[in-house]
Amino acid sequence: MLEESHYYFHQAADVLGLEDHLRTILLTPKRVVKVEIVTEGDDGRLMSHLGIRVQHNDVRGPMKGGLRYHPTMDEDHATALANLMTWKTALVDIPFGGAKGGINCDPAKLSKRELFEITRTFVERIKEVIGPQQDIPAPDVNTNAEVMGWIMDVYSSHAGFSPGVVTGKPLQLFGSPGREEATGRGVMYVLEEALNDAGKTIEGTTISIQGFGNVGSNAARLLAERGAKIVASSDYLGAVYNAGGLDIEKLIVFVDETGSVNGFPDAEEIGGPDVLTQEVDVLIPAALEDVLTADNAADVQADYVIEAANGPTTPEADRILHERGVIVVPDILANAGGVTVSYFEWVQNIQSFRWELERINDELSKTMRRAYRAVADTAKARDLDLRTASFVLAIQRVGEAAMARRYVSQPIDL
Ligand code: NAD
Repeated sequence: MLEESHYYFHQAADVLGLEDHLRTILLTPKRVVKVEIVTEGDDGRLMSHLGIRVQHNDVRGPMKGGLRYHPTMDEDHATALANLMTWKTALVDIPFGGAKGGINCDPAKLSKRELFEITRTFVERIKEVIGPQQDIPAPDVNTNAEVMGWIMDVYSSHAGFSPGVVTGKPLQLFGSPGREEATGRGVMYVLEEALNDAGKTIEGTTISIQGFGNVGSNAARLLAERGAKIVASSDYLGAVYNAGGLDIEKLIVFVDETGSVNGFPDAEEIGGPDVLTQEVDVLIPAALEDVLTADNAADVQADYVIEAANGPTTPEADRILHERGVIVVPDILANAGGVTVSYFEWVQNIQSFRWELERINDELSKTMRRAYRAVADTAKARDLDLRTASFVLAIQRVGEAAMARRYVSQPIDL
């Protein structure tokens, strides 16, 4: 994953003519923290887990990024994702840098009490390097609002009441209305902009969505409300298809009750990978990394791929899609709605003032549409695809901020 995120960075750095030493400066994390987390298991034995926080870049503001609890969590993974956060926050032009981290563990094998103790010990070990003006974690894979509440509690016992130390908190702890659906909502706004560019609208557009979790189900619901036909969707247990459009409200209730899209009435069962190659206008990967590869990119039938997931497209697949004229809206733009509303949550926390949901959705719409326009304009002006244009813009913003913060005898023309 590190290689892939660096690949896209270098593609844009080539366009900007960045010299090697500047690439190294921009890619190297500011700080990498690794800690041992020792806790007592339910069986009375001591357990040890590795906790990681990679703080990539803070020239444009406090660092921002999720905490992932997963057996694959390691320094490389966290570094790749921290890099992406730096470019994502710069692209939507919010005053944050990028970070990412987590704990190498398998939450499926841990009790809630064990997760609680592991989380508390992790925060004890890293509390000096996080904070509302330093680094603000958020939920990611296998962490949620409840875990953010635990983190806020430990941090506040050390620094005083500090809701702004994490985002994605429960509403009772000053989380933000609208955060839950923000990423799916942002996906809808950028898709609408991309379609508008071609004189099309969401209404009547056919869509296939891989993943029916937070992002996939919210995007599906909001798009269906605007008249799109969601013909296929999937989760890790199965995939369903209905040529006339799935009834998304019913599917959400069904998944709530049964835990999966599998067995949904009024739909036929299809193979999981087939969701990616349906004959639709728009494909939204909203589940995993590396799902569009050299093996299946030529079979994608959609005219648009909107990357709701982080890193769903390998560089080889990206090349194939580009050659075939498929428009790919990259992850750092398409899924930035989540971090944008996290920013609004942080603003509300440091102002000790609550915004109405209407204001949040309105500001999110403006932020996402503005970011899309800036990327589309850059792509047009420089004859680039949307991914390269996104990285070019983000690197320019971070590079210019870095230069503006110090004496520079030879300014670099970005
Ligand atoms: P989630 O855990 O709520 O949902 C993930 C969905 O993917 C589930 O439906 C799961 O069953 C499905 N899935 C897992 N393996 C699959 C497989 N092999 N085939 C098909 N489906 C599979 O997670 P989420 O929050 O919706 O995040 C989804 C993606 O969006 C991730 O890449 C995440 O990094 C990215 N993202 C999320 C947010 C956010 O605010 N939640 C923000 C930015 C990016």
